[in-house]
Amino acid sequence: MFATKEASEQAQWHKLKRQPSEKEMSHPADGEAWQDFDQEYPDFADDARNLRLGLATDGFNPFSEKNTKYSMWPVFVVPYNLPPWACMQESNFMMALLIPGPTCPGKDFDLFLEPLIDDLLELWNGVRTYDAITRKTFKLRAAVLWCIHDYPALSTLSGRTTKGYFACIHCDKHPLSYGLRSKIGYVGHFRFLPKGHHLRRNNEYAGLHESSEAPGKFSIDELLAELEKVKDIRPGQQQECGKRKRSGLDRVRGPNIWQRMVSLWKLPYWKKLKLRHNLDVMHIEKNICENLIGTILNIIGKTKDTVKARLDLKDLGIKEELQLTEDGDSCEMPNARYTLSKEKKKAFCDFLREVKFPDGFASNISRCVSADGTKVQGLKTHDCHILLQRILPAAMRGFLDNDICEAIAELGKFFRELCSKTLNKDVLAKMKEEIPMILVKLEKIFPPAFFDVMMHLAVHLPDEALLRGPVQYGWMYPIERRLYTLKRYVRNRARPEGSIAEAYIADECLTFCSKYMEGVETRFNREPRNIGFSNEETYDVDVFGHGVHFTSAPELVYNENGFDRMVWYVLHKCSQVEQYAE
Ligand SMILES: [Zn+2]
Repeated sequence: MFATKEASEQAQWHKLKRQPSEKEMSHPADGEAWQDFDQEYPDFADDARNLRLGLATDGFNPFSEKNTKYSMWPVFVVPYNLPPWACMQESNFMMALLIPGPTCPGKDFDLFLEPLIDDLLELWNGVRTYDAITRKTFKLRAAVLWCIHDYPALSTLSGRTTKGYFACIHCDKHPLSYGLRSKIGYVGHFRFLPKGHHLRRNNEYAGLHESSEAPGKFSIDELLAELEKVKDIRPGQQQECGKRKRSGLDRVRGPNIWQRMVSLWKLPYWKKLKLRHNLDVMHIEKNICENLIGTILNIIGKTKDTVKARLDLKDLGIKEELQLTEDGDSCEMPNARYTLSKEKKKAFCDFLREVKFPDGFASNISRCVSADGTKVQGLKTHDCHILLQRILPAAMRGFLDNDICEAIAELGKFFRELCSKTLNKDVLAKMKEEIPMILVKLEKIFPPAFFDVMMHLAVHLPDEALLRGPVQYGWMYPIERRLYTLKRYVRNRARPEGSIAEAYIADECLTFCSKYMEGVETRFNREPRNIGFSNEETYDVDVFGHGVHFTSAPELVYNENGFDRMVWYVLHKCSQVEQYAE
């Protein structure tokens, strides 16, 4: 990273060129976790060249559908010193490990991680490196700030359980979990509201848990004490008996929230970090969106509004209008006001078919609508991202009751603000107050079985954003894209790991070489797909000075009326035209 002047300059961007603002956050260096680390280790922070890293991992199957039982786990190191536009770029990820398949490493992950930990320990003490700017060697140090992974991998990498009553990694004490008929629900978000808030009154979940305070998190001492109990558990075959029967015992005795002490704790700074593991916003959005769509469209297998969910209502004694009504030998499930009728489902799916987006904004969502036009299936994560933030809030208006639309729209707005490229600390503080309210509103509408742990995790997202900075530095999108590239490297299907390793080295070499190339098209100066032109001088009104070269757009013919309306729109929205209009 310091072999060329440009690269070395970029690696110091966060300290030398970044213009920090008090409220706005656009880089991890604006986040509390980074600043806290600087205060804790001032000698590390002094040299702008010292690297701050993210550790990212995920499993993938290099054979797609051809062999479904194969899981390979690359581990990437992401340098955060770079400017925002280069930070999460694929070419800057370094593949530190490639854990071979065919089975996913699970508890043995630590063992595979060992060489990387040794390297990281060495890097923490410093390694002599040549810097192209000063033309001298210096002692380069590096520290891992946090890990990026999806929720199941979080358990693998952190050693903390992400299942059962203590599934939420932020709620160590008195969690919101409640055992329902077939699953564990996370209800009672009113507990996150301040005392005396109007939504706390007449809350149907009051009294469900021992405490009505917000759940607590372990302090670092309590956490270390927990870890002390499990520090001798080594990876490999566990003596643990097979499947334990799920029982209420867990709650009474206090289950093992931490299953093992992972090797990351060997890093001397690990216990001082504020944010060790990121919640992945990408998968949270996907799960919430799928829950919403599945339930609203009543898709069998996806809906959370099942017979058991209705039986829960009876157990809890709430929402009488939705409880099953007995009629002799049979039972009837009353229609819920949050599911659409068949006509409305059709209308909603038609809307999805029709909706148009700017180039590169979203994929073709209409392909997800089933042939009979009553179902939505095969949604990808980015489709859910767009659906949840943009489409559902608009599309549900008119189909569902006002209070339901409002809650969905507020949830969409929450995620829209959370995913913006720059975050304002005041806005985040406000969002932190709002999200429990949104969830309480949803709780009033949907049955408790709707609220799985993913729904609950939304409560903790503003806190994490304050610590980390914008979400794009901690979510899985760039990692998944990188995995796709790795997948394409596989040429010899008998030796997928070997193919990837070889192609990766070749690719790294070429990337490095292209940093020295000028006048040749390289991956650093390649033009975007839809490059525009700008010729503002020729025209007085600059909207006419911009344009795009179409690569694959279909030719559209407008009738006279449509064209006039377009021109009218442009002229009325352009401030430079105002003087002529008068
Ligand atoms: Zn929680």
